[in-house]
Order: sequence, then C-alpha cells, then structure tokens
Amino acid sequence: MKNSFDLIVLGAGSGGLAAAKRAASYGAKVAIVEGDRVGGTCVIRGCVPKKLLVYGSLYGEYIKNANSFGVEFTDARIDSRVLLTNVRKEVDRLNKFHIEFLARSGVELIKGWAEFTGPNSILVKDTHEEANFRELQSSRILIAVGGRPNRPDIKGASLGWVSDDMFLQERFPEKIVIVGAGFIACEFACILNGLGSKVIQIVRGSRLLRGFDSDLAEVLKKDMQLKGIDLYFDQEPIAIDRNKGGIGITTSAGQFVDCGGVLFAIGRTPDIQRLRLDVAGVKSSKQKIEVDMNHMTNISNIFAIGDVTSRVNLTPVAIDEGRTFADSVFGNKKRSVNYELIPQAVFSQPEIGTVGLDEDNAIEKFGENGIKIYSSRFRPMSKSLSKRGENCFLKLIIETRSQKIVGCHMVGEHASEIIQMAAIALGMGATKADFDRTMALHPTISEEFVTMT
Ligand code: NAP
Repeated sequence: MKNSFDLIVLGAGSGGLAAAKRAASYGAKVAIVEGDRVGGTCVIRGCVPKKLLVYGSLYGEYIKNANSFGVEFTDARIDSRVLLTNVRKEVDRLNKFHIEFLARSGVELIKGWAEFTGPNSILVKDTHEEANFRELQSSRILIAVGGRPNRPDIKGASLGWVSDDMFLQERFPEKIVIVGAGFIACEFACILNGLGSKVIQIVRGSRLLRGFDSDLAEVLKKDMQLKGIDLYFDQEPIAIDRNKGGIGITTSAGQFVDCGGVLFAIGRTPDIQRLRLDVAGVKSSKQKIEVDMNHMTNISNIFAIGDVTSRVNLTPVAIDEGRTFADSVFGNKKRSVNYELIPQAVFSQPEIGTVGLDEDNAIEKFGENGIKIYSSRFRPMSKSLSKRGENCFLKLIIETRSQKIVGCHMVGEHASEIIQMAAIALGMGATKADFDRTMALHPTISEEFVTMT
C-alpha cells in the first residue's frame, strides 16, 4: 500500500471528485480521503435527492389540474414512503457509480476522517475502527470537505431535523414546521406541501430569499401562500419540546405550533473542525478557509475549493474550481474560474432562475437612472384550462448607457432551464437589441424575454 502521493484530496464530494479525476488524468498519483459516503452533499444529501423529491412532489399539482384536461384519477394518492425509498435507491446507484469511476480513473479511495499532521502529511482514521490509522504524505493537498447544516442555539434544537435528515425519513409527517427563508427552506416547503403535508414556514425577516431580486421573492411568496403554505414572518423559534407524540415549537412572537417534525434550514458551515488546520498552519476566517485566485491557502502546497471557502457555495462552482486547480497545477494549463454571471436556481414551486444583478444591486452599481426594467407577469398556457396554479414572472434589467442586459430573472415553469441558456447570452454581453432581434419561439414562456417592450 503506497502512502506517498502527488495529490491528496480531502473530501469526495462534487469538487473533490472532479479535482482528483482530472489530476489523475494528467498522470498524477492521487488519493482521495472520505469519511462519509462518496458523492458528498450534492449527490448523497443535497441537489440530486432533493431534485428527485421535487419531481415527485409536482404530481400533487398535476393531479389537482388533471380533470381540466379530461384526466380523471379515482384513487390518486401520494405515498412519501415509496418516493423516499426509490430516491435512496437512486442515491445508492450514484454512490456506487462514483466509487467505480474513481477506480477507473486510477484514484485511490481511502475511507476515513483526515487530519493534518503537518503541511505535507495527513493522518486518516478509519471511519469504523478508530484504532486503525494510516499516515499519508503528499506534495500537494486539496481541502474539499464541504459544509454541514447549522442548528440554532435554542432549547430542544436536537429534536429538529436538518436537511441531511430529510432523506433518511421513512415517510414525511402530516404537519411540518420549516425554519428559514433561503434555498433549502423554500425548496422543502414546496416539496412537503406537494406531497400533502401541512407546511408552516417560520421566517426571521420580512421576506423570503434575501439576496434574490425582491420581485421574484414576492411572486414566490404569493404562490406559496396560494398553495396553502403558512408563512410566519418576523419571528424565530425560541424553544422546541416533545409534545404528545409529536413536537411543539414556540416562536419569538408567542405562537405555539404542534407538528410532526421541524426542519432547520438556516445555512451551512464549513466542516473543517476535525481537520486540525492549525497543525499545518492553514488560516481560516469566520470558519472559512482563505484562498487566492489559484485556490491556494496561505500555505503554498495546500489548496481549498468549494463550500469550505467564502466563494459562491454551489456545486458547479466547486466542480469548476476542482478542475481549474487540476488543470493549472498538474496539466500545465493555467486558467481561472469565471465567477461573473453565475446562474442560480431555487427549485421551489414555482421555480426561480436568475443570472446577473438583481434590481437593488443594479441601482447601487449604475444609479436609479442608469437602468431600465422590463417585466411581464402572466398565467402560463399550461394552467389556462385549470385556471389555477402558478404564475410566471420574467424580468430584464438593462444598463441604459451600454444597453447591456445586466440581470435576467424568472419565476415559473422551466425557469432553471431557461436561465441556464440566457446565461450564455449575458456572458457574451447581449444587449436588449440582441434579445429583440431574436425571433420568438411560439407558444413558449421564454418568448416573452425577446418580445418585451
Ligand atoms: P441560506 O440560503 O443561506 O438561507 C439561510 C436562511 O436561514 C435565511 O433565510 C436566514 O435568514 C435564515 N437564518 C439564519 N440563521 C437563522 C436563525 N438562527 N434563525 C432563523 N433563521 C435563520 O441557507 P440554506 O437554505 O440553508 O442553504 C445553504 C446553502 O446550500 C446555500 O447557500 C446554497 O449554497 C446551497 N443550496 C443551493 C441550492 C440550489 O442551488 N438550488 C439548494 C439548496 C441549497 P436571513 O435571510 O434573515 O439571514
């Protein structure tokens, strides 16, 4: 068993896997260390199983709208046990696929938790047998261990779930309280609502999705409320107690809610505590590892990518950072990640897709008179027979001087798919005239983007 490598990657999530395989493709001797399941947050307990739950939960709406299309369901019911079981099977398949792919790529997978014993050395403790150690040496080490969900510091917090726990449930409860107003809170509120649970979402501020364009958040809020999701704004949980078979949550506004489960979706923190970064001399600030544009920490042979840094914490960013690192360091193809115009989606119902500046940031950058807004709100054709269901909202923000589109935002069906394509145009510097010159594709939702006046 060799213990000396050209690269040791800590963490077999999306970023770590991408970096390890790319480095190995250049002939580097690579090991990847993982204490949990190969695949990381995105594949095992994040984007992938979440999106499968989204697909499952959409059937709730389809069933409600079906009779206007002449489709009758006499015994339609949603069983979250079946959905959760099938999602776990798919996650198992992907986990196996990633393990096999590592082997095919020539990367050695070392199972266990890693800690630094020096700037070039790592101790791996076997996940199951604490007494089983392995010492590894490497000329370069890449930290890609990702993050863990936060829990609030309140009485009874351990009675609540975090997003990881949602995928381990046998079935979802009839009534759930979700704390938070970010990506995870809004996505799970819509998933659980679609699967038939009563959802109460507790938001400490006065709006959803701080950091996103406020018009998008407002459209989503109204549609979530129309679907029966109760949003309690301007309050936070202060205590959780066991309560006749379920749990009870008390809020700062004096409300008390009985429910079958509480999900905390209040942000994530890098999972760096057990790495013993101090032993290697790696600096962190506010629990995030500081890196330069080459992903290098303050120690020149130690690098970090993905959610352990203060950059944008999204899977595609971590993957691109991992590949860029490997190309630059092992492939002699120096390049850097383009952090401009990163498209983002919230897989809520309706879905949100966005790229570029929101209205507040555009005003801050160009001034009130420096931008022009175009927007359109309508009921999509797919809902015209049922006359119920989600609306669409499209918004373009133009910088008046250059006429460039600096923000392209959407709420509604297929928003993520549409905005992914719009991001290409924005990245090429598209102007309003470029959009206007593009022939509409009819009848679609996205044709509105090229016909806005
Ligand atoms: P998030 O988007 O940062 O949102 C955190 C939410 O929790 C905010 O609404 C915040 O309120 C609230 N909050 C924070 N501390 C709180 C407290 N003590 N009590 C009550 N509320 C509190 O975090 P997240 O939804 O947990 O998601 C974590 C990360 O996962 C995201 O940043 C993203 O990188 C990733 N993610 C991405 C996707 C996607 O791409 N579709 C989906 C899921 C997750 P304020 O607004 O007042 O601060």
